Parts: sequence; C-alpha cells; structure tokens
Amino acid sequence: MQNITVLSGGMGGARFLQGLLHGIAAGSVPGVAADATVTVVANTADDIWVHGLKVCPDLDTVMYTLGDGIDPERGWGRREETWSTKDELAAYGVEPTWFGLGDRDIATHLVRTQMLDAGYPLSAVTDALCQRWLTPTFGDRLRLLPMSDDRVETHVAIADPEAPSGRRVVHFQEYWVRLRASVPAEMVVVVGLEDSSPGPGVIDAITDADLVVLPPSNPVVSVGTILGVPRVREALAATSAPVVGLSPIVGGTHVRGMAEQMLTSIGVEVSAAGVGLHYGARANGGVLDGWLVDQVDADQVERVEAGGLACRAVPLMMTDPDATAAMAAAAVELVAR
Ligand code: GDP
Ligand code: CA
Repeated sequence: MQNITVLSGGMGGARFLQGLLHGIAAGSVPGVAADATVTVVANTADDIWVHGLKVCPDLDTVMYTLGDGIDPERGWGRREETWSTKDELAAYGVEPTWFGLGDRDIATHLVRTQMLDAGYPLSAVTDALCQRWLTPTFGDRLRLLPMSDDRVETHVAIADPEAPSGRRVVHFQEYWVRLRASVPAEMVVVVGLEDSSPGPGVIDAITDADLVVLPPSNPVVSVGTILGVPRVREALAATSAPVVGLSPIVGGTHVRGMAEQMLTSIGVEVSAAGVGLHYGARANGGVLDGWLVDQVDADQVERVEAGGLACRAVPLMMTDPDATAAMAAAAVELVAR
C-alpha cells in the first residue's frame, strides 16, 4: 500500500497518526511501503475566532503532535509554553478568559490569521504552517488537509432554564473548554456543514487511497463532521480502497474526551459496537469495511459482524507509539485479508 488516508480529529487522531507513522518507519505495518504517503483529512468544525485570531484546534493538534511541538502532558498546544498574553488579556477583563492561548501558540494563530486576511484559503495556510512542522521530517510523505476551506462550526444546545426557549446554544469550544462537557448536550448543530465544499485534495485523497482509516477520533464532532462535508460519504462509498475504523469507545466509555456526551446527544449507543454500527458497513450504505474493538469489548465482535463488518478485538489503548503502531497494523490486517 502506497497511499493511506486518515480522517482525523485532534488528540485521538493525532496519537493514532503518530503510531501509524512510527510503525510505517519501523516496517511493522504489513503491506505498507516504507515510503508510503499518509494524507490526513482533519476536522475543522472545532475552529473558533478568539481575540481576533483564527484558531484551528484539530489541525494544530495534529501538526504539533507529528512535528514534535506538542505539550505531551496536556495533549494540546505547544510544549514549554508560557501564558503572559493570556494574563495580560485577563488583566484587561477581556473575554473569553476560559479559552487559553499560550504565547508560543499565538504565533501560529497570528500567521494563520494574517494569511487568511491576505486572501489565502485555510488549506494553503495549513500547508505553509506545515512547512515548518512536518516537511523537515516527512517531506511530501505526510500531507495535512483541512476537511473544508469554508467556515463550519459545531454548536451545542444545552438546557438553560433562564432562556425563554429553555435552552441555549454555545460554540463547541465553550461546551468543551468552559463547561467541561459537564451538562448534557441536547443537540449538536454543525453550522455551515451542508453548504460547505470539501477542501482541495480531500475527495481525491479518498478516491485514490489504497486504504482509508477512521482513527479512534470522536465519532460525532470529529469524524462525524468530516463525513458530513458534501461528497465525502459518496467518495467513501465509491473508493476501491478498504475503509477500516478503530473504536474510540473502550469498555462503554471514551478513553478521554467527551464522545459519550456527543453520542448520547445523537441517540447512538455508547459502546464499541454501537459506534461501529452507527458508521455502518459499506455494503449496507455505511462507510466501513472493518471495525476494531478493544479486547475488553470482545463480546461485541459477533454483533458487529452481524452488521456486515469485519471485526476483531485487539488492545486499543494508545499508551505509546509501539502500542499504537500495533493497532495500526491490526487495522491494516483486518481489511487486507
Ligand atoms: P479531539 O478532537 O482532541 O477531541 O480528538 P479526537 O476526536 O481525534 O479523539 C477523541 C477521542 O479519542 C475520544 O473520543 C477518545 O475516546 C479517543 N481516545 C483517546 N485516547 C484513546 C486511546 O488510547 N484509545 C482509544 N481507543 N481511543 C482513544
Ligand atoms: Ca476536536
């Protein structure tokens, strides 16, 4: 296999990609050439304008993680970060105070915002940022593509007894960062999604792939939004490449994040099988050929297979790049059979 395309969110997708690239370099992913190209189609529906800056959390998490600039403890933002700008803004009493932008990170958002203001599309801006982070290590064997150049924003409806309608709609980042996903999400609305166009190269990356992977990213607000970009589902249905996914739900809950809240809000069972069957088999109008579940969910394999998917239970905890590379190898093996 020469061309692998991964539909990624932030942290879960980035960690998976780190393991996949590690495994490819080590030759431990069977059937994948050492010089294979990995194309990442990243979610951009988490993007937000803060203090006049365009922030793209998932693109940056992937970029910093694979470019070795990530803060490994936090899992987002830059390592050795300082927070002087945040403190100064707080001293002015400027909102939002709940969204922390580190000083080093701000440089990325300044470059991005300036380029957008100058008329470059997000895809071109991303490419320019990746010249610093990815090109020195990976050359043209790793590409990072925004799912769309259009403004798409996930909003979450939450209960608010004081609002006339009884509910209030907040940006996804406010739900996640300020509210810590601690209140039920009544509805998820992705503003602009239906009218968006796939970013340059996105459809070709699916059509021309030898393998498409849905990593253990959030099935609603990461992979779900990418699948909602017009023509993406059709491209997945039509591609000759096998499509394989890895469950972000282990033992009935997310490993980290808030997939549980998001799945509940769209009425999907919070289980490895529930998510696999929600994506569905390509043979039945879904997007997958195979689905990996964690070994603790081995009792769900039969149910997933009954839904038309190849399925196996293997360790799915991304504890280090070797463990994650083994997950990638198992995913390839599942659909290459
Ligand atoms: P986000 O955009 O930063 O929220 O990241 P993603 O959408 O890419 O990934 C978030 C998902 O990753 C969560 O739903 C987690 O359940 C999942 N996740 C995180 N770590 C692990 C892990 O070690 N194993 C598995 N199977 N899933 C994980
Ligand atoms: Ca995200």
